[in-house]
Amino acid sequence: MSSLPDVDARAERRVSVVPVAGDRRRHPASAHLRFFHGPMDCGKSTLALQVDHNHSRQGRRGLLLTQGDRSARPLISSRVGLCREAIEVRPATDLRLLVRAHWAEGHRVDYLIVDEAQFLTAAQVDQLAELVDDSHVDVYAFGLTTDFLARLFPGTQRLLEVADDVQRIQVEVLCWCGLPGLLNARVVDGAMVREGETVVVADTAPTPAPDEAGPDPEVHYQVLCRRHHVLGQLGPAAVGPGQLALP
Ligand SMILES: [Zn+2]
Repeated sequence: MSSLPDVDARAERRVSVVPVAGDRRRHPASAHLRFFHGPMDCGKSTLALQVDHNHSRQGRRGLLLTQGDRSARPLISSRVGLCREAIEVRPATDLRLLVRAHWAEGHRVDYLIVDEAQFLTAAQVDQLAELVDDSHVDVYAFGLTTDFLARLFPGTQRLLEVADDVQRIQVEVLCWCGLPGLLNARVVDGAMVREGETVVVADTAPTPAPDEAGPDPEVHYQVLCRRHHVLGQLGPAAVGPGQLALP
């Protein structure tokens, strides 16, 4: 906001008729690639929707992107009940072309919100960086830090390498023991597993009781502290029939 409102208002009217991409390039203010990461259930999607809300309230226009969201339709949905439609990104999607297609239709794209950014390819992260540097589009990426083997996801690794700003999300998720939960465990039929595909999309809801489970193995994720991830101990609540509860 300026101390010269009349001048500013005139300038704004002029700017509003300038083509979008050109408009952004007029402003020397640089854009940023920001990455927020954490374990499951740390509130990434909620934060993504909050960032979108804050920007859109300032009159900025953004695109929301996601991959393999918990809901089958492309949405950014959070466990606290917020939800917005999003564009589904596939591994072959060129994010630069996706943004340019919106510009070509006359839509402004001032910023991108990228949820589930851990699933991006390294090339797609580089495309995001190019949009930041060459087209001055602000990018806010949100993703899981590590997979169920406690290894960085490929998209996460590339974002840690090239993002301007990296923040571990500070909403604390607790392991069943009460220590901060940092790592995601994959639980199949009530037991932690250490092999399988990197990406198996499942929720973090507790495993249903054995009589509700179908014939397919039930997969879910549980956030553990480092020690209990190493030990593979899921806590007393997750113990299935015939297993001992080891604190
Ligand atoms: Zn623990």
